[in-house]
Amino acid sequence: MRTFDGLSASGGIVSGPVFCLSDEDTVAIPRYVIAEADTGAHWARFESAVEKARGEIRLLKDGRNREQTDILETHLMMLCDPEFLPQIRKSLDSELVNIEAVLKDRVDGAARTLRATGDSYLSERAVDIEDAFGRVMRNLLNDGASPSGKAGTRADTHADMHAAGGSRFVPEGSILVARTIKPSEALTFKDSGIAGIVLEEGGATSHVAILARAWRIPAIMGVRGILLSVSDGDEIVLDADSGVVTLDPSPDLLSSARAKALSRKAHEISPDDAATRALEPAVTRDGAVMTLRANIAFSRESRDALESGAEGIGLFRSEYLFLGSDTLPDEETQYAAYRDAVVGMEGRPVVIRTLDAGGDKMIGEQRLLGEKNPLLGWRAVRYCLDRRDVFRTQLRALLRAGTAGNLRIMFPMISCVEELDEVYEVLEEAKAELESLGIPYARDCKCGVMIEIPAAAVCADLLAKRADFMSIGTNDLTQYTMAVDRENAKVAHLFDCFNPAVLRLVKATLDAGQEAGVEVSMCGEMAGDPEAVFLLMGMGLRNFSMSGAAIPQVKALIRMVSLADAEELAQSVTGLSSAREIRKLVQGKLKTCELSKEQE
Ligand code: PEP
Ligand code: MG
Repeated sequence: MRTFDGLSASGGIVSGPVFCLSDEDTVAIPRYVIAEADTGAHWARFESAVEKARGEIRLLKDGRNREQTDILETHLMMLCDPEFLPQIRKSLDSELVNIEAVLKDRVDGAARTLRATGDSYLSERAVDIEDAFGRVMRNLLNDGASPSGKAGTRADTHADMHAAGGSRFVPEGSILVARTIKPSEALTFKDSGIAGIVLEEGGATSHVAILARAWRIPAIMGVRGILLSVSDGDEIVLDADSGVVTLDPSPDLLSSARAKALSRKAHEISPDDAATRALEPAVTRDGAVMTLRANIAFSRESRDALESGAEGIGLFRSEYLFLGSDTLPDEETQYAAYRDAVVGMEGRPVVIRTLDAGGDKMIGEQRLLGEKNPLLGWRAVRYCLDRRDVFRTQLRALLRAGTAGNLRIMFPMISCVEELDEVYEVLEEAKAELESLGIPYARDCKCGVMIEIPAAAVCADLLAKRADFMSIGTNDLTQYTMAVDRENAKVAHLFDCFNPAVLRLVKATLDAGQEAGVEVSMCGEMAGDPEAVFLLMGMGLRNFSMSGAAIPQVKALIRMVSLADAEELAQSVTGLSSAREIRKLVQGKLKTCELSKEQE
């Protein structure tokens, strides 16, 4: 047995075989000119790579269910295709470039043609072609004759391999081990049925961590060195509750992990206090009412949010509609998604954030830019204000969906008043377009800003004059205040929303909102941390938005404490100088509340 420590990003315990996305999966595809005399050798390498891939697939078929066997059969057929393989040979002979480059071009071309049909069946075949020949590519890259083998950047991965393990079959129930993955890749792995995530990099508020929590997939980040120690199929136990990964677990550990996982599951669905009372309002012992809403990435999650006890959606991260495809979603697609979320929440407020692409969630042209500091770059409204057509399309879709219920529009990464004024100009343009076309839209749709840049928090009083509401995004607010990349495990110890600097900015925003009579909420991960909620209530926050999974526990916390206790706590915290001291004080006070509840 061997253990590795990391940061718990999404709780739970799971055991299973490793699916290893090693840096080999991210090699850039080499491209170079070859002599005519060398084409035979390149073709021979290709043939043996194909033969090897066929053998691998035959082995994989053993013990699979019907659906998986069918997929693998399709891959086998593709690797014997009597038309496609000769086309590759022809390109190799005529273009005189290395076989890896020829293979990449032909596979990309075939996949593009299939996708361009717009037919969902054919688009799925495009994925199969990439899958089957991705396996051949890996064999080529690993046959010792390829000049590659150098790990590329993650951007290379996207460009070259259609990544997300797309080149390999991801066995359901496996635990993904990788250096890092993008949110769009996480979506693909979720669809493949992975049971857990272990990353060498990343922090607890990275977008992958946020998704894992929403999907209730156990995840640990910052597990240094694990990639060098595991291979596909190795059995591991991932205990994300304690942030430990165990390789080659003993039979005893395996069975205790399985028992713990089962009891956790039973607990999740058993009618315990938190779950049964999830639908009831969140009221403190002394009668203060808190509003709890959910964060979602897709409209279909609104149903789950309701069942978890959400009183609305406090953050719909609309950029997930834009990820995972090379083309931007059109107005109708967006309208349908926003409308579904609004209708699903049956009249409750639904705050939809406009496109927050960039940083770790790049779309199309942003990826090509190769920014040195994407987190400080062309992201969110900065991108939208440069691509006004993209922005107006989204705003029209939002305004139209607003007629279906209680939709509110929220603008991310606002850094100053001028930027917000410009955003409103585009909003007016979108309204004018709908008006001239006679299309119904929500004329008085409420608009708010995210407070997630320190400059916005400091000037929250100025922004409050121009916004219907403000929502504090503590993930980015902490990142930018502390100058700590939220994805970087090396400096994760500095990423703490309990840091006095972050708390002061939160307080400044709350005060500015109160002064201006503007609703303030919080939708960063801090709002779903029960200890933080206790303190935030005392600081004056009443509206919290979090992953649906966190709602029952946070409601349970709110019911256990009184606002008077929270306010007293907030007072005592003001003099403290470190996150550690503050957390300790919060935990101590919480213990006292627990004890007094037990004694009742
Ligand atoms: C935040 O920054 O706190 C936030 C909610 O936005 P995101 O996590 O999507 O960047
Ligand atoms: Mg943010």
